[in-house]
Amino acid sequence: MAKRRQRSLIRPVRPGFEPPPQAEVRFVPCPACGGPMRQGATLCGRCWTLVPAATVQVLHARTDGWGGRWERFRQAVGAGKKPEEIRL
Ligand SMILES: [Zn+2]
Repeated sequence: MAKRRQRSLIRPVRPGFEPPPQAEVRFVPCPACGGPMRQGATLCGRCWTLVPAATVQVLHARTDGWGGRWERFRQAVGAGKKPEEIRL
């Protein structure tokens, strides 16, 4: 019985192959600090660290009223409330 040859895990790259372009990440100013924030986000990463843990927990709890809590959070951010003072 012939020994099966082990297939290489590394595949040769096809000539002319180009990886698909990565979706371009756009940055917009963070509403709380004005720093760069990913488009579509509510706050930049730095501001998220300032949001009270209890507030983050409430936002991530997938219970009734989840969308409404996010809406209130976004409104508070939009109203110029400091991230560390937002409580839901
Ligand atoms: Zn920020």
